[in-house]
Formats: sequence, structure tokens, C-alpha cells
Amino acid sequence: MQITEITVRTFRYTSYVGRDSEGHGHPAAPNEALTSLLTIGTDTGIEGYAFGGIAPGVLETLVKPVLVGQDPFYREWIWQRLKERQRLNMGSLNDKVLALVDVALWDLAGRAVGQPVYKLLGAYRDKVPAYASTMCGDDLEGGLDSPEAYARFAVQCSERGYPAFKLHTWQPPIPGAPDVKRDIAACAAVREALGPDVPLMLDPYHYYSREEALYLGRELEKLGYAWMEEPMDEHSMSSYVWLAQQLDLPICGPETVEGKMYARAEWIRYEAADIVRGGIGDLGGITPLVKVAHLAESFGMRMEVHGGGAANLHVLCAMGIPGQFYERGLLHPFVDYETPQPWLSEIDDPMDDEGYVHVSQRPGLGWDIQFDYIEENLVSSH
Ligand code: MG
Repeated sequence: MQITEITVRTFRYTSYVGRDSEGHGHPAAPNEALTSLLTIGTDTGIEGYAFGGIAPGVLETLVKPVLVGQDPFYREWIWQRLKERQRLNMGSLNDKVLALVDVALWDLAGRAVGQPVYKLLGAYRDKVPAYASTMCGDDLEGGLDSPEAYARFAVQCSERGYPAFKLHTWQPPIPGAPDVKRDIAACAAVREALGPDVPLMLDPYHYYSREEALYLGRELEKLGYAWMEEPMDEHSMSSYVWLAQQLDLPICGPETVEGKMYARAEWIRYEAADIVRGGIGDLGGITPLVKVAHLAESFGMRMEVHGGGAANLHVLCAMGIPGQFYERGLLHPFVDYETPQPWLSEIDDPMDDEGYVHVSQRPGLGWDIQFDYIEENLVSSH
């Protein structure tokens, strides 16, 4: 089998989420938004898919020369060649591009052999407990505008079946943010509402000082929180070593810092985090996420996968370390999470009443794509 073509189709849809000036999503009036479908085609007619776009210039000059004519099962070779091409091209050939290509190749492989990707990886389970992962705090009345609002939403999520809950608290440009005291007030209100036994996590503003992060950590220890993510700029690994040494509270990271599996190895070596972190988009695909999962396991460490979606879920179902959750969200009292987007027949992560998300048994990553919708709403194609 040989790769013959790679195409990107961009299409419009109605979104109920808007972005603030810092890029954080919040509920919004219906608005027209764009998304893309990447397709990798082969001489057999079998295709693989991923949702996201690659700019025409990057596709032509950096991606196609590596892929076209290659065996699509040579995922590791392709990933390594693209990684090497990032040198001198990091601004355009970023890890999100590597992730899109790699996800589409895994989807293609699954479709070619008629098996879901998590079984190709080496299946461990077919369902994973989820935590409710909130949107960032806002100033919408009845939304996530106060500690009491987080507590109310946490109770709703618990009643829906979620066994655990993670707060993303207020960040600029929301008035008054960031504020460590208000963050802790929200964390305390949620603990009070759900009782002592529910695992709770915090992902706050990402640019707190060392002293502010230490204050947060010590207060979360008193509240019995399960972990804290990224309270400081992750480029300063020394700050995380300093923080982790002083806290019993587990620190989970790094999440957004560049460096793929190499950065995770350094954080493990220097004990900058207690729980390893990474997701498809942060690391550059399923291929490097599996490397990091095995790295964490080899050091006897848990790994918590960043973000949801089919690709992250399939990897989670092939990881054998107990205690890991699926990050379901981002959730908000005003946003419907359970209805599929019009270009898919089902959501990626259906959750049962006990809070388990079930992985699709369809070949590949399980997407039943509604191509008619994409064609009817096509904006551009290259
Ligand atoms: Mg996070």
C-alpha cells in the first residue's frame, strides 16, 4: 500500500462557544465557525482521517514530500522524518501538524485491518472513568461566575455520573482574575458540595509566581485535592522542582511545554512532577503519546492524558497503569456536550451513568463521518 494524496477540506458549522481575547472558550450566541478534515489517501482506496487543518504551503513543501509514495504502515519512520524537518521550520511544522498526520495514519491502519486503534496498540480496557473538566471561569450569571456556581455545577456533574471533577478557574481577561484566594474559595466550595471522597483537581492561571503556586498547593492539600496542573510557566522546570519538593499535593505536568517525550523524560529525571502529563496535540500524535505512557510506566509513575477526543481515548484504553482518567470536556452549565457535531453520527466519548467513557469498536478511531454535511458546507479544499 502506498500513500497517494493528502487533502484538507475546510467547512463551516454553527458553534455555541466563543473565544475571549486570551483564547479561552466560553458559552456564546450561535456563531459561524470553521473546522477542517485531513484525509490521507492510498492506492488501495483506503483512507485515514483527522480533524484539523494544515496550511497549503506547509502541506506542499514539508508534509507531502515525506508522505507521498510511502507505505502508510511506516508510521514511526514518517513521524521521525517529520520531527527532523521541524528543525528550521518549527513555526509552521509544529507538533499539531505532526499530530494530525500521525492520527490520520493510525486511523487508516485501523480501517485497513478492520480493528479499532486501541486493539492495534495492545488493548487493556474498553472503558475509562471520566472526570468532568470545566471551562475557565467567567462572569456569566448562573455560569461559572462564583465559587457557589462551581459547587452547583459540580453537584450536577456528580448526578450525571462523573466520579471526579476538575476546575479551570478564572483567567484574564475576566475581571478580577487571576486571584489565588478566589481560586481556593472555588476549590473549597466544590469540596464542601461533593464531600471528602470525590477526587478533585485544579488547573488554574498558568503564570502565577512560585509563592502564589505554593500557597495554592498548601491550601489544596488541606482540601484533599488529587492533583494540581500548570500553576506556573512550564518553561521554568526549576520552579516545578522547587514547588514539588515542598508539597505533598501531586503536581501533574508538563502539559503545554514543547519537547515531546524528551521534555517529559527531563521532568521525570529532575522530579519536577509527580504525575506525568501529555496528550495527542501537545506531543505530536498517538506515536509519541505511547512513548510517554511507557516512559511513565517504566518509572512507576501515573500518567494523566491531556484532553479528550477519540485519539486520546484509544491510547488510554491501551495503557495499563491504574488510576488514569479520561478528561471529558470542556464542560459548562450552558453548553450541550452530549449532542454530536453535524459531521459525525456519534460523539467520541459516550459516557454511561457510572461515569465510564466507552471506546468505539468501529475500525480505526471510530469516526462515522457524514461526508454529505462536509460537502454541503465546504468553504475551501487543497
Ligand atoms: Mg491543563
